[in-house]
Amino acid sequence: MNDCPFCQIIAGRAPCRKVYEDEQTLAFLDLYPISRGHCLVIPKRHIPLITDIEPQDNIAGPFFRTCYLVARKIKNAFNCEYITMLIRGTRVPHLHMLIIPTIKGEENLLDKTLNLHHFCQIRLQPQFTAAELDAIAEKIRNAQP
Ligand SMILES: [Zn+2]
Repeated sequence: MNDCPFCQIIAGRAPCRKVYEDEQTLAFLDLYPISRGHCLVIPKRHIPLITDIEPQDNIAGPFFRTCYLVARKIKNAFNCEYITMLIRGTRVPHLHMLIIPTIKGEENLLDKTLNLHHFCQIRLQPQFTAAELDAIAEKIRNAQP
């Protein structure tokens, strides 16, 4: 996909600060990092969303393996408390995992946002009844992958 910025990086037509690469994936520093070491992991094949990977494709395994390896590399490179991973693919329509470290002694906006989310989540009224939650779980169990 020619106008995709991540495909441009994979093709070598746009720069990136590469931290890891293998046959199927590439990891590089985010241009607008939320924290020190914030990286993106992308598959080399243009795939818009994680749900666009077919179960028979050999992409999800290598993709998540690279996410794990890069998270470990970041953890070992910095004084990391923990790593947060988020998948979207909406702003840039090429599947990407955001790998965002929380470094000891350094605040980041994502942690503040997630702490606020958790604060609200545990104080809000339950959104679903127990019967509704049972039905939701059953519907997911019975759906095709
Ligand atoms: Zn792309």
